[in-house]
Amino acid sequence: MIVDDAVPVCSRAGCRAPASWRIDWRNPRIHAPDRVKSWTACEEHRAFLSEYLSARNFPVASVPLDPDAESAT
Ligand SMILES: [Zn+2]
Repeated sequence: MIVDDAVPVCSRAGCRAPASWRIDWRNPRIHAPDRVKSWTACEEHRAFLSEYLSARNFPVASVPLDPDAESAT
């Protein structure tokens, strides 16, 4: 997990757009039921990433990121 004090960036390879979504997913074949992986996605790639995961029959949930809440320091 990459922790940065800047705005989170989209997880899509080659994309540097600021993420506005978090995609929570897991691979039931290798991950325990309580293990959840998180990707971040920009508006443009949210559908791409969630479809990529759901096409593999992974449970997927998209959660909107709230930059105002995240950056409250
Ligand atoms: Zn993107």
